[in-house]
Amino acid sequence: MYYVGAHVSASGGVENAPLNAAAIGANAFALFTKNQRRWDAKPLTAKSIDAFKRNCETHGFTPDQILPHDSYLINLGHPEADALQKSRDAFIDEMQRCEQLGLKYLNFHPGSHLRKIDERECLSLIAQSINLALEKTEGVVAVIENTAGQGSNLGCRFEQIAEIIDQVEDKSRVGVCLDTCHTFSAGYDLRTADACRESFAEFERIVGFNYLCGMHINDSKAALGSRVDRHHSLGQGEIGWEVFRFIMQDARFEGVPLVLETIDETIWADEIQQLRRFSQGEMSLA
Ligand SMILES: [Zn+2]
Ligand SMILES: [Zn+2]
Repeated sequence: MYYVGAHVSASGGVENAPLNAAAIGANAFALFTKNQRRWDAKPLTAKSIDAFKRNCETHGFTPDQILPHDSYLINLGHPEADALQKSRDAFIDEMQRCEQLGLKYLNFHPGSHLRKIDERECLSLIAQSINLALEKTEGVVAVIENTAGQGSNLGCRFEQIAEIIDQVEDKSRVGVCLDTCHTFSAGYDLRTADACRESFAEFERIVGFNYLCGMHINDSKAALGSRVDRHHSLGQGEIGWEVFRFIMQDARFEGVPLVLETIDETIWADEIQQLRRFSQGEMSLA
């Protein structure tokens, strides 16, 4: 079963996210469980948690279909002790919010060395941050997102992701989210079926599909290997439609949330429909 949806708004309360997802015909969604641009957040209320669970149940969303995303401020590989601690505390809080909501995943960007420590050291800090968060929570999987490699962001090479996973003690609670835009701008070609086969074979060889917990489904405004993170609507960017058909016709991508973060939310319902048509065996655009 394919789970396809979008990163929907949770404004007015997390309980609105499943409603917003259902309204666009999604059977998967992503959300922020707090304001993603602020450090502080009020705890979730019992009322909000209950309403979230009820709305998910009503619209058929199980934890397998939901990929929460953490705050953009968090840097689990921060080179400075105080800032690292602040990020670790905030990440644990986000993991606990997911736990309270009965969710299974928390998707995050691995971290940045800010050119103050070397890559290896930063990857180890990230792994230790994950270990600390896993110790303090139960059941939630820390899902590392691959990045475009902008600035000093790590996680653009599959080797870097493998190096983090290698140092995580409980491998059953670490996973990976591949973002097609980030993958492409990091230098893995996805423009043809052959290129997709090769790039995903490399992911299988270096990380492994057993770690795949979700995908972000985006086209890219930026060129192959540019290391620039600019999403575009499906088929309108540098990647084109082929990769999206490929994903929807390859069983390795079934059973995990496939989440649009494309730039025009007014066409999310259409993009979801088109992806579904591919999964039903259609080879061309409707
Ligand atoms: Zn993403
Ligand atoms: Zn991005």
